Amino acid sequence: MSKITYNPFENALSQFDTVADILDLDQNMRDFLRQPRMESHFTIPVKMDDWSTKIFKAFRIRHNDARGPAKGGIRFHPHETADTVRALAMWMTWKCAVVDLPLGGGKGGIICDPPTLSLPEQERLCRGYVRQLFNQLGPDLDVPAPDVMSNSQHMLWMMDEYESMLGGISFPGVITGKPIGMGGSYGRTEATGYGAIYALKDFMKYLEIPIEDSTASVQGFGNVGEYASRLYTELGGKVIAISCWNQADGKAYTYRKSEGCDIEQLAGIKDQYGNIDKEKAIAMDYELLDGDAWLSQDVEILIPAALENQITPEVFPGISEKVRIICEAANGPTTPDCNPLIRNRGIRVLPDFLCNAGGVTCSYYEQVQCNMNYFWEKEEVLEKLEKAMTTAFRNVYNTSLERKVSLRDAAYIIAIGKVAATTKQLGWV
Ligand code: NAD
Repeated sequence: MSKITYNPFENALSQFDTVADILDLDQNMRDFLRQPRMESHFTIPVKMDDWSTKIFKAFRIRHNDARGPAKGGIRFHPHETADTVRALAMWMTWKCAVVDLPLGGGKGGIICDPPTLSLPEQERLCRGYVRQLFNQLGPDLDVPAPDVMSNSQHMLWMMDEYESMLGGISFPGVITGKPIGMGGSYGRTEATGYGAIYALKDFMKYLEIPIEDSTASVQGFGNVGEYASRLYTELGGKVIAISCWNQADGKAYTYRKSEGCDIEQLAGIKDQYGNIDKEKAIAMDYELLDGDAWLSQDVEILIPAALENQITPEVFPGISEKVRIICEAANGPTTPDCNPLIRNRGIRVLPDFLCNAGGVTCSYYEQVQCNMNYFWEKEEVLEKLEKAMTTAFRNVYNTSLERKVSLRDAAYIIAIGKVAATTKQLGWV
């Protein structure tokens, strides 16, 4: 892990500025799109199980809603910061635009460490979040979803609190990522990881790298890392290493099996936060390596699926010469100062806000199904998702060829271009 401190919002702004120059946006448009439209910073007092009270700090940030209601997850993390939430909200705006969803970008966060909280404490925290934010949420205004360390149970409590505050009116479209049978959509659990691999599969076809002869190393084995690994191995690829956090030791480890990790088996020994049980993994003959070792494996594909700022100039020299693609399933895993190094090595990057857009795409499907009160079969959801991801990827790929830019810049050109055009048409700027 890098010793330099990176600010994700500065990274998001620097990426924006590069493309604002390419698109020749005027100063007012830049000023408008460089900052969030609305920020809420608030506290949530929670009665703990021992009857003490703990005060949690929380955020909801709406970056832009020109193309539709804001959409974005709520992240639970002990190191959450306003700037991380700002960056993630901005990336959500671009993400929704690049896959052409009629949605804007928002994001939330609570500074907390869920593994240290009991379930009743987590429930009170979730309900407190909605009580504080009630007037700023709604299917036509701002629709949250799960993110790092938040899950479908948290979303259900939040929806229930929102509906209770409305006097018991059913409003399942206020939040997505809910459990199946309770307003959730089939395929939402798989959507982000699968979406990344749908795009990767298409990209590999263009690069003429047969997926079945390829190997990958993954950081993160939570919702995204697990399902990306599942589909990638189903398509014939081999995941040889997975890195994830160990709560008890307060550090990350990489679990390696050169003949290929058994994803089903590892999923069976992880906890709800995506942390693999170290002792059980060792007993299953996984080699235990340093947390950063996932980066230095001899593989064609690196799949960062944990946190931001993981691939930096500091760690870049350790990346194997064999690596051809970085498939950014996480948000902001590569720092902008690493781009020249990546380019010089000829490594191709499937950029985050395109690569992991499957989650929000399926969240949108969930919203649509909730609003209709008619739910689709899983096959139908995944079919629509694959089509949406493939179409978005091809648009980005073609733009990158036409404009002779990286896939990241191409994705930004499409997304920022769309949001700027709508903002102008609305007469806001
Ligand atoms: P998660 O909480 O389910 O899993 C996080 C994983 O990261 C866990 O396996 C954890 O052990 C691992 N991890 C945490 N710190 C680590 C470290 N220092 N080193 C190695 N591993 C570490 O989270 P998730 O929902 O899978 O999200 C992962 C990433 O994908 C985040 O960047 C998130 O913003 C992004 N994302 C998620 C979704 C979604 O639908 N869940 C959608 C779009 C983007």
